[in-house]
Amino acid sequence: MYRVMVVFGGRSGEHEVSLASARSVMEGLRKAGHEVVPVGITREGRWLAGEDPLRELEAAAGGNAGSPSGPPALAAHRPPAELESVDVVFPVLHGPYGEDGTIQGLLELADIPYVGAGVLASAVGMDKITMKKVFAHHGLPQVRWVELTRRRWQERRKELLREVEEELGFPCFVKPSNLGSSVGISRAAEPGELAAALDAAAALDRRIIVEAGVDAREVEVSVLGNEAPEVSVPGEILIRKGDFYDYEAKYSEGGMELEAPADLPQETAGEIRRIARTAFEAIDAAGMARVDFFLERRTGRVLLNEINTIPGFTATSVYSRLWEASGLPYERLLERLIELALERHAEKK
Ligand code: ATP
Ligand code: MG
Ligand code: MG
Ligand code: MG
Repeated sequence: MYRVMVVFGGRSGEHEVSLASARSVMEGLRKAGHEVVPVGITREGRWLAGEDPLRELEAAAGGNAGSPSGPPALAAHRPPAELESVDVVFPVLHGPYGEDGTIQGLLELADIPYVGAGVLASAVGMDKITMKKVFAHHGLPQVRWVELTRRRWQERRKELLREVEEELGFPCFVKPSNLGSSVGISRAAEPGELAAALDAAAALDRRIIVEAGVDAREVEVSVLGNEAPEVSVPGEILIRKGDFYDYEAKYSEGGMELEAPADLPQETAGEIRRIARTAFEAIDAAGMARVDFFLERRTGRVLLNEINTIPGFTATSVYSRLWEASGLPYERLLERLIELALERHAEKK
């Protein structure tokens, strides 16, 4: 039995997704007999401890910002004193300021074990531009892409529109380099849609990536471990709403279905699992990650899309369901992640 600080919310476009993940994680940890210390971070970056920071953040997310319990127990841009007395921290934060190495750096300095990837893997995994460069170095198959910055886009709009059209063609996908849950991602089907897509991404990140669009099945696998990570069975995402796997498809009722295991030739499943392990090791990930793939319809080619070092983590999220389908139930998965965090901390000494 451990004292586990669960940190959730955060200064990210995925704030609300984090609250849902944290609710499940805390329930699972309590069921397994652990003591949970819940800590929330507001959208402005203030840390909340005390009685029930999850309810406070949920109330704020629901538009009911006036919390009934008076002022928060702590409202500084720094963690509460309980950090000193916990055995391990579970950052259940998606996106920037959580999944990107920032909180991991704070925990490294404080010498406290934590679940998941360290500073380097978190930062590389969060920034799609850098992630793709590291994957390319390992010879992993990916779509074609170009990078730009908000400043370059603002200053050379016409030239960049032409450049993207020449290099990638249509459809293409425009993304903030550092985000998740499809927040800020647009599919541009023709030249007339590109400028608005770039504006939308530039509103959320200083770094922007544009990718050649592929017509593909979408397959994901879960990875678990430190040095010799295990890979789950692959699952296929069946999109039921909209024309790609966007925020609505991900989180609204009936937006997607997961087929696990995916109906794939054994060879393809094997290739996907091998690439996932290589991707995990390429960024030096630890603990957990979900790796997303495209299986191009026309050619049958497997293309690596991305790695997520803190994947959605409710009991019905893809990450957990793929482990469930591989024979590892949710509570045992949480248990294993805590063990891996402690092992990794001990190994650093
Ligand atoms: P996550 O929630 O998994 O962190 P994310 O915000 O990091 O997602 P991606 O996984 O890069 O975003 O893309 C989200 C979705 O957009 C994909 O699952 C897919 O449906 C669509 N998509 C993204 N890039 C492409 C592409 N190059 N070609 C076709 N579809 C794409
Ligand atoms: Mg992602
Ligand atoms: Mg993500
Ligand atoms: Mg993804």
